[in-house]
Amino acid sequence: MGGDISPLDVALEQLEIAAQILDLDSGVHVFLSRPKRTLSVSIPTKMDDGEVCVYWGCRVQHIDARGPFKGGIRYHPNVDLAEVTALAMWMTWKCAVVDIPYGGAKGGVCCNPKEMSKAELERLTRRYTNMLLDFIGPHRDVPAPDIYTDAQTMAWIMDTYSRFKGYSVPECVTGKPIILGGSKGRTEATSLGVMISVREAAKDLGVKLKRAAIAVQGFGTVGWNAAKIAHDWGAKIVAVSDSRGGVYNPEGLNPYKVFEHKEKTGSVLGFKKARREVTNEALLELKCDILIPAALENQITKANAGKIKAKILGEAANGPTTPRADEILSEKRIFVIPDILANAGGVTASYFEWVQNLTRERWTLEQVNQKLERILVKAFHDVDKTKSEEETNMRTAALLLGVGRVAEAIKTLGLWP
Ligand code: GLU
Repeated sequence: MGGDISPLDVALEQLEIAAQILDLDSGVHVFLSRPKRTLSVSIPTKMDDGEVCVYWGCRVQHIDARGPFKGGIRYHPNVDLAEVTALAMWMTWKCAVVDIPYGGAKGGVCCNPKEMSKAELERLTRRYTNMLLDFIGPHRDVPAPDIYTDAQTMAWIMDTYSRFKGYSVPECVTGKPIILGGSKGRTEATSLGVMISVREAAKDLGVKLKRAAIAVQGFGTVGWNAAKIAHDWGAKIVAVSDSRGGVYNPEGLNPYKVFEHKEKTGSVLGFKKARREVTNEALLELKCDILIPAALENQITKANAGKIKAKILGEAANGPTTPRADEILSEKRIFVIPDILANAGGVTASYFEWVQNLTRERWTLEQVNQKLERILVKAFHDVDKTKSEEETNMRTAALLLGVGRVAEAIKTLGLWP
């Protein structure tokens, strides 16, 4: 699916659009287009059978003008430097759009976690963390989960980092298990944020969320929790999918039941109450009110954008839509809630976790969700306002805010020497 365009090309083209409208100096534009630092590592890992497998990984730190670097770590067989660089850049804009005091980073390890044991993943994670030790830290760069990494992965990172420091440093990583200082609400926060922004968009457009038909591509942490929240709010989940394919029922699927089925069988495929199975490509083109891509980049391209029937596109994934597809969606007046706004709930809750760890406080779920709601609703309306003022679409408006704030920070810091 449209995989021939690199996410980095997409990210650079988006930056170009914003830079032009903001009339950025070429020096600032070039500075923003490159990561401050890229660490590429080779990670020898002992496998359960005694063999040593050497994995490739990296950590890309884009810009830290507004605060320490922040961003997830992705384990995936297709991870490469261009993808991680794009993801780091999107983190920078994302943190600026919701105005939390971080810069953007991302890590990646090229591996297939589905084929690895828990012990192998632990050794890989610890060795990778070991190689990152001089580059991460609570005031330097704070990792978090991303695709195929989770709270357990973060616990191993915290432990490895803490062992080397000689004392416990929970604030070195976010998305941890609650028992280790993780924040209540963090696991669901990305999805809750997606649904909050979808709700605001639906209000704007006069779409009733109750009974609205929603299709969700991807049934990992973000896709599953988005489907669950949407279902709890009274919407109708008509399709969900995972890497193997999807299931569809225009009458609605119960995401809790689909989740149970996936837990048992490893896939959403074969779910009994489905009317039929659909491919990941076909899911995007289904008749529905709201489409939520919650998987990988480059899913909506010039090849299929014209066939999308949803009224609202809520980008839970990072980089699911290419610039050519954006033009088509704009023409079709589909309301796109761009990734750097729609999925910013995750990093916002990470920020809450970091603040709780640094202050040695614990917040209730109500406190976390209230603050999340406030930040995301404000960000949504800030972007919506910029969209009207600049007579543009939501993507460009979000980029104008995000890139604009980072550019302003860079200029205000000045250049040394
Ligand atoms: N991986 C998530 C993202 O892409 C969360 C990052 C974080 O919490 O630092 O936004």
